[in-house]
Parts: sequence; C-alpha cells; structure tokens
Amino acid sequence: MSVSQQVFLRDAMRRLNLTRDVFAARIGVKRRALDTWLLPEGSQEFRGMPEVVQRFVTEIVENEALLAKYAQNSQGGPLRDRIARDGKHQLISVEQFTRDSVEELVRIADMMQPIARRQKVSRVLEGAVLGNLFFEASTRTRVSFGAAFCRLGGSVCDTTGFTFSSMAKGESIYDTSRVMSGYVDAMVIRHPEQGSVAEFAAATNIPVVNGGDGAGEHPSQALLDLYTILTEFSRLGKLLDGAHIAITGDLKYGRTVHSLMKMLSLYRGLKFTLISPPGLEMPTDIIEYVAARGNHVIEQTNSMGEGLKGADVIYATRVQKERFSDEQLEGYSADFQINKALIDQYAKEDVIIMHPLPRDSREDAHDLSVDLNADSRLAIFRQADNGIPVRMAIFAVLLGVENLVQHSMRDVTWSPPSHIGPEDAVFHGMY
Ligand code: ASP
Repeated sequence: MSVSQQVFLRDAMRRLNLTRDVFAARIGVKRRALDTWLLPEGSQEFRGMPEVVQRFVTEIVENEALLAKYAQNSQGGPLRDRIARDGKHQLISVEQFTRDSVEELVRIADMMQPIARRQKVSRVLEGAVLGNLFFEASTRTRVSFGAAFCRLGGSVCDTTGFTFSSMAKGESIYDTSRVMSGYVDAMVIRHPEQGSVAEFAAATNIPVVNGGDGAGEHPSQALLDLYTILTEFSRLGKLLDGAHIAITGDLKYGRTVHSLMKMLSLYRGLKFTLISPPGLEMPTDIIEYVAARGNHVIEQTNSMGEGLKGADVIYATRVQKERFSDEQLEGYSADFQINKALIDQYAKEDVIIMHPLPRDSREDAHDLSVDLNADSRLAIFRQADNGIPVRMAIFAVLLGVENLVQHSMRDVTWSPPSHIGPEDAVFHGMY
C-alpha cells in the first residue's frame, strides 16, 4: 500500500460516505477491529489489516468511483486546475470548491499527517520561497502557513503590520503584489479590507492564498474546520450530511464563519442554528448563498440555550471589535459565554466544540470559557493542529507537487514528544 493504512481506510469511508459502524458492517468486520486498524501506526493498540480486507475495500471503492465517474462525467485533471480562479492557481474564496474537489484536498491533508506529526520529513518544495504578507494581527495563521511551507522543504520570508511595510508610504496593492512576485514563489496575504486579497491576486500570476481579508473570507480556516469536523465525526461514527451545526458569537464580522457556512453548504441537509447578539447577525448574502444549496435548514436565534440543543458541532467565535463601526456591545451579555455549565445543561454528550481562536479569555469577554479545557468535547487544539496538514495540502496542490509527497517521505532524525499538549492525551491515537 503506498499510503498508510489509516489514510487508506479513512479515505475509503469518506468516498463511500459511510460511518465507521456501517463501513465495518459493509466489509464484514467488528467495529473494534476497524478501530484498531484506524490507529496511527506507532500507537500501542494499532493492528495491521489483513490483506484480503485491503483488497476487498479497494474493490468496493474502485467500483463506486467508476460509477460516480460515469454518473457525474467528472472532468478530471490536476486539482489546482479544477479549483483555479480566473485561470490562476490561487485560493481566494471557498466558492472555488465543489464537494469532490474539497474532499480531494482533505485526502491530501490526510497524506500529510505523518509529516505534520513529526514522524516523517519531505523536501518537495526545496528551493521555493513563500512570502507571508500580514498587514493585520495574526499568530496561528501566519506561523502555521510558514511552518507548513517549511515542513515541505521550502523557506519563508515574513512581513507583519502596516507600519513596517511600504503601504504605510502610500504604495498601492498592485505595486506591492507585482514587486513581491519577483522575490517569492507563493504569497499568503492578510489584509484588513474585504476584497483586497483578490486585488493582490489579480496583480500576479504566482499562487496567492487569502489569509483573511477584513470581514470577507478566511478559506484556509474553513478548510481546516471542515477537516476537523470530518475527522472528529469519523471518530464519533457520524456523517456530515444531515448534521446540526450551531454557530455562535459575532456572525456579522467573523470571516471564519462566513467561509465555513459557504463551505458546509456543499454537503446535504444540514441544520444551521445561528446564535448571535442583536446587531451581530450573519449577513443576508451568506444566508442566501447557503439557502440556495443542498436543502439546508437555517434558524436564527438570540437564545444560547435553545440554539445549542441537539447540535453536533458548536462553533464559537470572538467578537471582532476591531471591525466595529457604530455597533455597541450592550447585547453581548454573559449569556453569550460558552462554558461548562451551559454545555452540560444543553449540549449533546458527543458534541464537538470548536473555535477558530484566538478566544478572548478575559473574564468579562463572554467568549469560550477556559473551564472547558479538560473536557474532551473541546476540539479547539486538535482543530488548530489541523492547520498544518491542511495548509501543507493547499501549498502542495497550488504548486503542483501533491503526487510527489508520498514517495518523498523520510523518517525524522530527532525525537518529538508523544503528546504535544496535556489536553490531547485523551485522544492520542484516536484519529
Ligand atoms: N483568527 C481568526 C481570524 O483571523 C478569528 C479571529 O480573529 O477571531 O479571522
């Protein structure tokens, strides 16, 4: 097998759109056996899957793929051409994806896991230079894009803030973009104005990734959020089609949830519960976009308890005060804090709690409380960790090297810790 057993099986379940239980039944094995085959190879309880099962799974997947191909008359070709925007290999909006293309990217992210988990190294981007241009505050996005590029063997040049850039001297987006394209092979750009990253992208032919444009979009965050939901659901034996997603907080200015809702609309029959303080509701253009696709139900409420009931995913967001014009924070009372008491009272036992981070941990912030840190339903650190394989996948696709990665992998020469943080001990080896 050219990919790991875990990647092979997860890919098969995703392609067949089956939960672990149904998949185990379909291939005639016990769920417990399947669980051990799905563990990472280094973990204690990992077991190798018999070859006959592997052949059987390959056969089912290939038959399904063949049928799907006839049914959809799929266009084929490299993924970067299928998601291209104006003929360029750039990622500006989640609207560039179909369900097929996004799931292909998810499979590539799965393939990156041994590198992201520091078991393997690769040099497929050796010699390539990334320009990380961040004209707005960032920690996770900037560092994880940089780390993802480095882990594929490339190098990174960073610039942060307006004050230290030539834009503070009145330089145009066009000039900055054109000049940078002469220096680097790809750019990630974050800028406070909606639509500005598309302007950068129009001025160059090198790959550009939108790292957040004002209240507009944050496509790489939506991809890693989708990846997190699919991975957690696989562990929990759930499917995304038909799931209930509750989204809370500042839905007006939160670009992560704008991208996430559009991305999730590629799935079928979702129920969205949108819970926000008065004045910070989800923009109508996003609601209309989602309503026009996939047979979804969208409910809006100001009541946290009611909104969380029955949700499979609770996605909390920070109030984006930096984008406020004349909004007040009066409606944003303590009722909007997601904390352990609220979750225990209203949420399902197998809910997953997500947040794009940073969360405002100050007491009066009414964001996602730290009292959930030891609760295994809190997926925020697993979610943030997923930023690496997903951003590696984005670069590999945009630079056209995804097919070289698998064979380029070598063992790491140093010894990373088995758990990178205290809270992931419960889940270590589970996915
Ligand atoms: N880090 C995310 C963003 O850049 C979320 C946030 O800042 O609240 O949009």
